[in-house]
Amino acid sequence: MLGAIPVARALPVRERRMVGPWCFLDRFGPLSFSEGKPMDVAPHPHIGLQTVTWLLDGEIRHDDSLGCATVTRPGGVSVMTAGGGVAHTEQTPPDHGRMLDGVQLWVALPEAVRNGPASFSATLSVPVLENRAGIIRIFAGGMGSAVSPAPHYSPILGIDIEIHPGSSVEVSLEREWEHSVSVLRGSARSGGELLAPGCLHYLEPGREGADFSSPDGARLLLIGGPPFPESILMWWNFVARTPEEIATAREDWQQHRRFGDVKAYRGARLEAPPLSLFPRPVR
Ligand code: MN
Repeated sequence: MLGAIPVARALPVRERRMVGPWCFLDRFGPLSFSEGKPMDVAPHPHIGLQTVTWLLDGEIRHDDSLGCATVTRPGGVSVMTAGGGVAHTEQTPPDHGRMLDGVQLWVALPEAVRNGPASFSATLSVPVLENRAGIIRIFAGGMGSAVSPAPHYSPILGIDIEIHPGSSVEVSLEREWEHSVSVLRGSARSGGELLAPGCLHYLEPGREGADFSSPDGARLLLIGGPPFPESILMWWNFVARTPEEIATAREDWQQHRRFGDVKAYRGARLEAPPLSLFPRPVR
């Protein structure tokens, strides 16, 4: 294993901006709560990316400016394709199980589709590969004949690997792709090496596979894809190519153009931060 990066937000970080087309990885939870709304993200815009929401526990209600509404639950995946622009909200629904544990990832859209129409897709139950050692849940891309129906626009893999206590799970990988693995629950080893928690473990291209073992059981997140061929620029909730595109998207949001309203949400929307600190293109 290479490149353990100790951060709460696993992507992007200085040492590694992307893994395949994946450009953002954020963990929320695990947490339990008795009252209130641990997740309440007011209306905000996106361009040039897909959001991928995957839960181990709990529920998240999604509403967007297309009028799509859904509650994401464990075992299902929600994918919002922002294309040229969409706005959405994410909230803990009133009817909840007092737990929240999951990840949100972003996928950079390739040039051909990044300014296209927005769409939303909810898959209630993703394909699963199961044997005595564990369960692999495929929420993006495919492994053999098990292919997630969630729409993606460049080659991609996103899987949740559940290892049963005392077992070892082997995963075959595309040789030309890069991958990363993160521990979501429990503790696990790969190639005899402990996978430190809270880290993104980068797997460089050239591997045929990887094996993971756990004494007491674990859940791992493995993502990958071919190294993304385009340079991207990320700022706030936008993935673009030039500072001008970012500035225009920001201005459109502030002026109530382009993105539409999330009519299902009661409350104020998020304001864009000032453009004063501007990032540089990566890769
Ligand atoms: Mn969002």
